[in-house]
Amino acid sequence: MCIFCDLIEGKIPSTKILENDNFLAFEDINAQAKIHALIIPKVHIQSFNEMTPNVMAEMTTFIQEVALTLGVKTDGYRLITNIGQNGNQEVKHIHFHLLAGEQLGRLV
Ligand code: 5GP
Ligand code: ZN
Repeated sequence: MCIFCDLIEGKIPSTKILENDNFLAFEDINAQAKIHALIIPKVHIQSFNEMTPNVMAEMTTFIQEVALTLGVKTDGYRLITNIGQNGNQEVKHIHFHLLAGEQLGRLV
């Protein structure tokens, strides 16, 4: 369906950080910070526009577990989800970028 679906199925290799039945966290291939994880639901959902409150609620817990696993929960991190054309979303399978491991530049 898309490259992240292929990655979930193991057709594309990835460095996994955390996984459960419904979500996967793995390292971004082109890291933009010392730590750069991508967090995705295993079900193909195009973007935040198509997310449901139920999936978002479960994903919230999973993202918090990823932050704990990476050891960045206390020092802090940034979550980003790009949406659509103006948001520069390249992969049309919703993903949260988790950036951490250093002092990040201010965006907003
Ligand atoms: P977007 O621009 O859609 O928000 O972010 C897509 C992200 O996916 C980019 O940061 C890009 O580096 C990452 N990416 C694209 N293809 C692959 C891949 O095959 N493996 C991994 N690990 N990351 C990928
Ligand atoms: Zn997909």
